[in-house]
Amino acid sequence: MEEPAGNESDGEDVQEPPEPTSQYMQLPTPEQQQHCIAAFIDATNNEALESAVCVICMRELLRKEGDLHVIKDILHVRRHLSPAEVHAAHQLWDGLLIASTCIDEGGQGWVCQECHRALRANRMPKYAMNNNLWIGDILLALQKLQFVESLLVAQHYPRCYVFKLYPRDASRAQNPHHLQRAMAGNVTLYEINVPAVVDMLEGRLLLQSVETLSSVLAIMLVGTKQLPKSWLSRTFRVHCDVVLEALKWLQANNENYNDVTISEEHINMLPVDGIPAEIEATI
Ligand SMILES: [Zn+2]
Repeated sequence: MEEPAGNESDGEDVQEPPEPTSQYMQLPTPEQQQHCIAAFIDATNNEALESAVCVICMRELLRKEGDLHVIKDILHVRRHLSPAEVHAAHQLWDGLLIASTCIDEGGQGWVCQECHRALRANRMPKYAMNNNLWIGDILLALQKLQFVESLLVAQHYPRCYVFKLYPRDASRAQNPHHLQRAMAGNVTLYEINVPAVVDMLEGRLLLQSVETLSSVLAIMLVGTKQLPKSWLSRTFRVHCDVVLEALKWLQANNENYNDVTISEEHINMLPVDGIPAEIEATI
């Protein structure tokens, strides 16, 4: 190989490298590297990322975003966190609607800065359970409902949903079977024509027929013509038994569902475990 031009190899005339100044890119020194590694560890260790649940708003936040407080000593706490109406399922702590199970024996609980600031300023914390956000425990029968299943037992549709999904790496030509099962996407909500949907529904007959889904739900796939069905099953799967169980529970326990009639015909149209053909047709 030829010597690069201008490289003197005669020993005595070897040029010193230029003094480093700010205009040259420099490699970090070992000390700087150590400093960066230490800073990274400090910012990402278990202690830095530890989370806590605020006893007032029940949000899970980073522990550094709040503090332990003696609840009784927080200013205006009684004024804003005593429920105006007591519900049978409330678990009050000393008359306050807060997460009673998270208060220790000394009456201390972790409170986020936002809730604490609001109370100190004599304001209702925006996300406090006592700000009409308490919903109690969610029954298992309802917890199990996936998105499409919740549409099937709903009585009203204030929005319709447009799912736009695309493979994470849509820029390359690809065979969907060679991709990981990762989909990215977004959901757009539109105001719906409520009277038209009301006309379409059959009075107090539930669950909704699967055809209803195509009126409130649309799915767009971007960047791929065909997609293995298994990719969609996580989000859009329907279990017939889960829907029926939820509906029966609502019928027995929710006054808005007391007078509904469960439609055997509609239930029989649901898949035992799969994506309804009506949803596939909207893709
Ligand atoms: Zn809070």
